[in-house]
Amino acid sequence: MSMIPFNKTKIVATIGPASNSKAVLKSLIQSGTDVFRLNFSHGSYADHQKVIDNIRQLNEELGTTVSMLQDLQGPKIRVNEVAEDVVLKSGNEFIITTEEVLGNEKRASTSYKGIIHDVKGGDMVLIDDGKIELKIKEVQGGDVICEVVHGGTLRSRKGINLPQSNVSAPSMTEKDYEDLQFGIKNNMDWIALSFVRSAADILELRSIIEKSQKEIRIIAKIEKPQAVENIDEIIEVTDAVMVARGDLGVEILLEEVPIVQKKIVQKCIKAAKPVIIATQMMESMIENPRPTRAETNDVANAVLDGADALMLSGETAVGAFPSEVIKSMVRTISSVERQSEKIYFQDHTPASDSPLFYNDTVIHTASQLAKTSNAKAITGMTQKGYTAFKISSHRPKAHIFIFSENRIFLNAMNLIWGVRGIFYNKATSTDETMKDIGNILKEKGYIEKGDVFISTASMPIKEKGRANMVKINYVD
Ligand code: PEP
Repeated sequence: MSMIPFNKTKIVATIGPASNSKAVLKSLIQSGTDVFRLNFSHGSYADHQKVIDNIRQLNEELGTTVSMLQDLQGPKIRVNEVAEDVVLKSGNEFIITTEEVLGNEKRASTSYKGIIHDVKGGDMVLIDDGKIELKIKEVQGGDVICEVVHGGTLRSRKGINLPQSNVSAPSMTEKDYEDLQFGIKNNMDWIALSFVRSAADILELRSIIEKSQKEIRIIAKIEKPQAVENIDEIIEVTDAVMVARGDLGVEILLEEVPIVQKKIVQKCIKAAKPVIIATQMMESMIENPRPTRAETNDVANAVLDGADALMLSGETAVGAFPSEVIKSMVRTISSVERQSEKIYFQDHTPASDSPLFYNDTVIHTASQLAKTSNAKAITGMTQKGYTAFKISSHRPKAHIFIFSENRIFLNAMNLIWGVRGIFYNKATSTDETMKDIGNILKEKGYIEKGDVFISTASMPIKEKGRANMVKINYVD
């Protein structure tokens, strides 16, 4: 049997009206989606519940381990309701007010009442991803008086960004706390927190999840300049990171985003924390059946950077071609992974002062052995996932198969670069388990006669500890 076709770089697809039926969800899975994102900036609990139930059923029916990610809206600042056909003209005065009014050419309300305390004269206000730019003149009572620098059409509920102001809103809103309870109740695999500014934001979310005693992992969305500044402490406490280029691209200078993306990806790989690149990857496919050259290059470059996953938003949520966009992304990822050696073997020597130095060294050795023996696969066993994150972080060219009896983690690990989870709950003896693993991979067609594969495990196997052995296997 030839090399199995699945890609190392994973795909996250956002669900919305264009993709929430069971038929489209099935087609998205079969086209190559690894993770579904439920965006809690939109939709009712009833809508999300239907999607969750459908994904669970499909995983059962198709034998897949597609993961679910709940994206909490966070303290997103918005314009409230605006009348039809409101256009702001450059040079005119415009007021953002904390009073409740129907927006017009002169003033509009905002969802964030704290704005009057956080901004000052001279600060920039960007509306609708920067399509409208205002400059603040002064704050008077509940009004932020601005000059329109670049005008445009003002629409209801569009986002407001304050890149030069220190927004004091708490990291989680009332809505986020409620949505989080919904996510916890429904056993989400991953929960993403928006507008993270510091490690404390992640720790607060973690303390709530821990109280629930659920095994849910956290993604820190990097979309504020403060998060870029505090990236090391954030990476240390989070389980994964998302470079959320939509808001990031208006919160910092747009031209800084490409290098910020590359630096964050490198830091995450080194720390063995998965990283997702998000927003406008295939934007034109919301309307067209083919991506632009620039979009295909953006996808290819994110794969070359070494991202764990690439995310689609409007393309799969509201676009006209949800399955085609996944297939197109799969083709680009596959082409880059086939032709570029640069992505693989990002060798990082384990830190000798780490409490897990010996386990890390075993994993590191397994990855090096896979390289020198041109192995087809590396296998690991895990309870909580440590081995999976660690093997992936070395970016081996061999396929990574992680065996676990932890069904929750089998789904969660679908986000991690190169990792495929396989359910396995026998742990009688090391010899037997090693034999089983070889047979399972052979049965599934992942390895064949003449192949080499590397296995890592913990001896004695019954104790289910961290990896302490590495073995080279020849398939006969
Ligand atoms: C982003 O800003 O890039 C992003 C992914 O967040 P959201 O879609 O929630 O705005």
